[in-house]
Amino acid sequence: MTYAGGRGYLAIPGPSVMPDRVLQAMHRPAPNIYEGDLVDMVYGIVPDLKYVARTEHYVAIYTGNGHAAWEAALSNVVAEGDKVLVPATGRFGHGWADMAVGLGVVPEVIDFGRAGPFDPNRIEAALRADKTHEIKAVLATHVDTSSSVLNPVAEVRAALDAAGHPALLMADCIASMGCDRFEMDAWGVDVAITASQKGLMVPPGLGFVFFNEKAKAQRAGMARVSRYWDWTPRAEPEMFYQFSGGTAPTHHLFGLREALDMIREEGIEAIWARHERHARAVWAAADAWAEAGVLTMNIKDMEHRSRAVTAMRVGLPYGPQLREWVEQHAGLVLGIGLGMSEPGDEGGKGFFRLGHMGHVNAHMIMGLLGGIEAAFQALQMPHGGGALEAAAAKLAEI
Ligand SMILES: *Cc1c(COP(=O)(O)O)cnc(C)c1O
Repeated sequence: MTYAGGRGYLAIPGPSVMPDRVLQAMHRPAPNIYEGDLVDMVYGIVPDLKYVARTEHYVAIYTGNGHAAWEAALSNVVAEGDKVLVPATGRFGHGWADMAVGLGVVPEVIDFGRAGPFDPNRIEAALRADKTHEIKAVLATHVDTSSSVLNPVAEVRAALDAAGHPALLMADCIASMGCDRFEMDAWGVDVAITASQKGLMVPPGLGFVFFNEKAKAQRAGMARVSRYWDWTPRAEPEMFYQFSGGTAPTHHLFGLREALDMIREEGIEAIWARHERHARAVWAAADAWAEAGVLTMNIKDMEHRSRAVTAMRVGLPYGPQLREWVEQHAGLVLGIGLGMSEPGDEGGKGFFRLGHMGHVNAHMIMGLLGGIEAAFQALQMPHGGGALEAAAAKLAEI
């Protein structure tokens, strides 16, 4: 018998919870792609996307997921034989580097492990060592969703400036945008990417590449850019179809329009504050569980934790048991460990991740934590007490 009836909560770090308003906006017959509602709507999406990224510059929209945004961004600014510097703090940093390899680009990876942020001093040293400026871009993952680390992107700008290095600063904000504070222009980020299914609360299927004048100039100097990935017509379309490089992803755009309305209504600063509050509640519970027993937080220092996702370890055999129990008895799906293999747990199955990104409020957070607490008790997993009280106390601090 299961007790999972009622509304489920997919608490994985993307796809995130889709608001009913977004789903309802998508529930419509196929629209005309040449004139009418769709065409009228899309031009207004652009300023609202820039509002979320905190940029005054350009955005190109792609029908694709985050991997598409990775490749799109690279395709416009680096060519076969060029070098990129990749400070990696988990699976996603390595993923972007691998995308570069597929384009014939040579990544210089600095591996900072999976349990902490990158060190801007080492990035600066690598840039200083590149005397002939072969490195064309630094690929910085803002939040690495696998380790749940929050990286200091603005400090990478400072490292580039201190080294007097002209490489572009490119940021992967797929997990963070609309969750963790991110300020593209103020932080000196030249290219930022995101996707629809995390902080933007829309089903997977749209990728976004934001870029500034410096990146635009680098694009202009490329010998060639594939027609499909070229951001120029998408960001500055002369005809409507160019926004999408072909047929528009119609329903995703209606969903996105609604999600951006919700974001505007709440305000980006308030959204960041809500994520901060919820993250602190999750950490308070996790830190209490960790005081005695099997749970450990992957990122020890609060300052370096993402507000969108939290990775933890309970080890074997508990990880799979926990995920199975909450799914069957609490209607909760927790994220699996990603790229977290370690001695004695080659599959990384002792890890789990909580997605607390996007359309989430306090009762969902308490439900999530309460479900996990119940599983700990049911499975007799050794754990520290007082977790739910600690979480509630954080939520009570308005
Ligand atoms: C989710 C995610 C990706 C990959 O996005 P897909 O849509 O799965 O291709 C890349 N980078 C980060 C930081 C992510 O969180």
